[in-house]
Amino acid sequence: MGSADSLTAVRDSAGPRAMSDTFAEDPFPAGARQAGRSAPALPTPETLERLAACAEAADLAGEPDRAAVEVLRRSGLLALAVPKSHGGAGADAVVLNTCVEQVASVNASAAIMLFQHCAVTSRIVENGTFAQHREVLPKLADGRWLAASAWSESAAGADKKNLGTLAHRTPDGAWLLDGAKSFTTSAGLADVYLVLAQSQEESPDSGPGSSRDTGYGAAGQTFFLIPGDHPGLVPDTSMRLAGMRGSATGFVSVRECRVPDSARLGAPGVAASIIARVRNSGASLGAVAVGIAQAALDAAHAHAERRGLYAHQAVRHRLVNLATQVESARAVVERAGRRTSADPGMTTLFSKLAASAAAERVVADVARFLGSAGYVETHPINRFGRDARAVALMGPTDDLCKELVSLPWNR
Ligand SMILES: Cc1cc2nc3c(=O)[nH]c(=O)nc-3n(C[C@H](O)[C@H](O)[C@H](O)COP(=O)(O)OP(=O)(O)OC[C@H]3O[C@@H](n4cnc5c(N)ncnc54)[C@H](O)[C@@H]3O)c2cc1C
Repeated sequence: MGSADSLTAVRDSAGPRAMSDTFAEDPFPAGARQAGRSAPALPTPETLERLAACAEAADLAGEPDRAAVEVLRRSGLLALAVPKSHGGAGADAVVLNTCVEQVASVNASAAIMLFQHCAVTSRIVENGTFAQHREVLPKLADGRWLAASAWSESAAGADKKNLGTLAHRTPDGAWLLDGAKSFTTSAGLADVYLVLAQSQEESPDSGPGSSRDTGYGAAGQTFFLIPGDHPGLVPDTSMRLAGMRGSATGFVSVRECRVPDSARLGAPGVAASIIARVRNSGASLGAVAVGIAQAALDAAHAHAERRGLYAHQAVRHRLVNLATQVESARAVVERAGRRTSADPGMTTLFSKLAASAAAERVVADVARFLGSAGYVETHPINRFGRDARAVALMGPTDDLCKELVSLPWNR
């Protein structure tokens, strides 16, 4: 881990650019780059076995799953969203969603830690300076650094419009952050946090309902990349979640947390427009939901097999109905990842809505199908149910996805 002072970026005054532009202009000599990982690989059976082995114990304990994070660090999966030029796998969103789905099918908490890591990585790729790319991306690729997203706050709302975390510019050009974040996945385990703060007053014409309102985030917000061991940044994992209990989803406070300007990701005040572009990447939390739904379906088949239930046509058809829902959810997540629809951002929102609803339905139906066996507290179907519910609540919440889809209709 390093301190934010080591994020010695020479600011690029041009602001955020498309990924391809960023790398086309990258002066970093190709020969000096870390060798990129070969073709983006899906999780190996060994990785999945190890992640599966941690899931139940972490759920029972409700403690941050350090063992799962160690598996992720060694798996190569943390390299997914890092371009090959910087030591990564350069995976596209189809591969990324597939990997997240497969991890979620054995360990949903690990899947959201992986998802958040890849999401932060992508924001760095899209908005970082060359210096940030050079310093941070290789560490994110080789597993030295796990990244986390610290956007939410207890009173900010699902749409992150009323942030209490403030960032003030100091006379010497640094920033002083003060505030408290909640629901940060990988709190205390992450090596770097992408912290969202209000750095300027919101202008009156950018409030809710104005033509500049992007629906998520507000004008005058800025992103900062802060290492986990930076003075003033304090994680707290005392939050007791109903599901995703191994994911170390907790609080992160920043108290008199001074960071250099090189810790800023993107231009000051433009975080909302960075957030608005996130969904265009095609990476979908729906992939987590599909993985959980698949795990539930597998549990139903295992039960049918054990109890000789395939002999009943009604049972077989019930399983077909469940499989159809899983397959449909997978298809829409895959479509989001392909980014070939007329509006890929909208497709990503639809994929989260469709997959999270499907997962909750499938898990509830499988729980009923399992009969009394599924009513035993320790049956994994109960963990799947609690984990599936979290996907709808994760940002953008399903309610907010609906708002983002429908906002343009009201202009
Ligand atoms: C397991 C888990 C992991 C998470 N990980 C992270 C993380 O890593 N980083 C992070 O920053 N956050 C994370 N979150 C937080 C998540 O992103 C949500 O944004 C946050 O929980 C929203 O808070 P809320 O539901 O209390 O918001 P509230 O604003 O209190 O919402 C209450 C209800 O109103 C709805 N609502 C609110 N505003 C609107 C609106 N404008 N339009 C329509 N409906 C609305 C919400 O959907 C919700 O149902 C995580 C949450 C969970 C459960």
